[in-house]
Amino acid sequence: MTILSYNPADPEDLVTEAEAPGAEAVRAAVGRARAAQAGWLAGGAAARSAALTRIAEAVEAHADELTALIVREVGKPLAEARGEVTRTAAIWRYYAQAPYAPSGAVHEPAAGEGLLLTRRRPYGVAGLITPWNFPLAIPAWKAAPALAVGNAVVLKPAPEATACALRLAELAGLPEDVFTVLPGGAEEGEALVGAADVVSFTGSTGVGRAVVRAATERGIPVQAELGGLNAALVLPDADIEQAAAHLAAAIAGYAGQKCTATSRVIAVGTAYEPLRAALVMALGLVDDAACGPVISSAARDRLTGAVDSARAAGATVLTGGSVPERAGWYVEPTLLADVPADHPLRREEFFGPIAVLLPAADLDEAVALANDTPHSLATSVHSRSLDVALAAADRLDAGMIRINAPSSGVDFHLPFGGAKGASHGDREQGQAVLDFYTASRTVSVLPAGGA
Ligand code: NAD
Repeated sequence: MTILSYNPADPEDLVTEAEAPGAEAVRAAVGRARAAQAGWLAGGAAARSAALTRIAEAVEAHADELTALIVREVGKPLAEARGEVTRTAAIWRYYAQAPYAPSGAVHEPAAGEGLLLTRRRPYGVAGLITPWNFPLAIPAWKAAPALAVGNAVVLKPAPEATACALRLAELAGLPEDVFTVLPGGAEEGEALVGAADVVSFTGSTGVGRAVVRAATERGIPVQAELGGLNAALVLPDADIEQAAAHLAAAIAGYAGQKCTATSRVIAVGTAYEPLRAALVMALGLVDDAACGPVISSAARDRLTGAVDSARAAGATVLTGGSVPERAGWYVEPTLLADVPADHPLRREEFFGPIAVLLPAADLDEAVALANDTPHSLATSVHSRSLDVALAAADRLDAGMIRINAPSSGVDFHLPFGGAKGASHGDREQGQAVLDFYTASRTVSVLPAGGA
């Protein structure tokens, strides 16, 4: 199979063409990575730390080139692409300290002499499968901690983000077979899950569930970050203008193609009317430079089809709803009201610049509406009352709760993940993920010649 990655803003522009190597080649790459891993681990903490620092420096030195490549390959708005490159360098720098983190603890024996200790050791080869929407940051936030604690890495990027991932591996310049990027699709992904020692996946819910099943069947650790159907709760005491600006960014920034994008806006009580007006205005101000195209013509058609079917089911289009007259796979930022509860736009992730506006009589109803989904990754709460916002936060089924901020936004040094069906296994990012990429051993040391 040949992988073709096109520029979403200019579908005539073929960004990269690569041969998918097939399942056997993936297994061979994992074998080579396994052989290389021992040397990578034995090289020691200082060498791993220095290598990860050099990757951060290489990303910074090539920031303009990488920014342009992200814009071209996945259609990300320039400012967001620049931000992603900065974040990617920061992620490598942050995990460059991880080789020096404690790898265990010392305990007292229950009785008698001796020493009890725990020590965390890498699994071997981390198999990483990534989506296209953060084509450098997601590969980095998986590969950096996996490498820091002494694993080798085989990464299979999304076909739509092949060029970005290949360039990252080139710039990384690690010893041969320590960090391999293999282009490919489902066949290569399945083969990687079938051969690696630990698997981390980010992508859509359906594929992620299959990956979790396959890894669990093999008895290897697996973590999966999946799609979200994220809500925003706007209370009557919110700063409505600020909330509308945050929501417009969370709905339409990067064309809503973030797992943390807002797709359901829940207005409580008297917030509904002013929020409706302010949000329609704010979405109207989101230009192509902030929204950008969606990833493919199929994605664009799925989005316009969903709007049409919602209209047919009685929904009102408050703003947007069509495709601008221009080249590229663009969809207007769109807000709908009166969408029936069973319509797919209220039940499934569509990954586009589209949201539904829902009224709630009070906070209880708003929380119930927000929680009425199996895919809660991030929820935002907009209120001037910290007490109310924190109380709401405690009742929301979401992995990430953002108060007076857009739902889309991630701090790489804190644990990241969803609630219910949006996430499986240990959290990503922060220090917590170092445990995911290592297995704990308990070592009992007794005096030689003792009783
Ligand atoms: P996708 O599920 O189509 O693909 C993800 C990866 O899985 C790709 O590398 C793909 O080639 C690979 N793959 C496909 N079939 C496979 C199989 N059978 N076995 C193994 N691997 C296989 O997702 P996408 O379209 O690339 O990305 C968009 C999705 O990612 C959205 O649902 C979004 O919410 C989600 N996402 C989630 C997070 C998060 O942290 N929760 C972050 C970013 C994106």
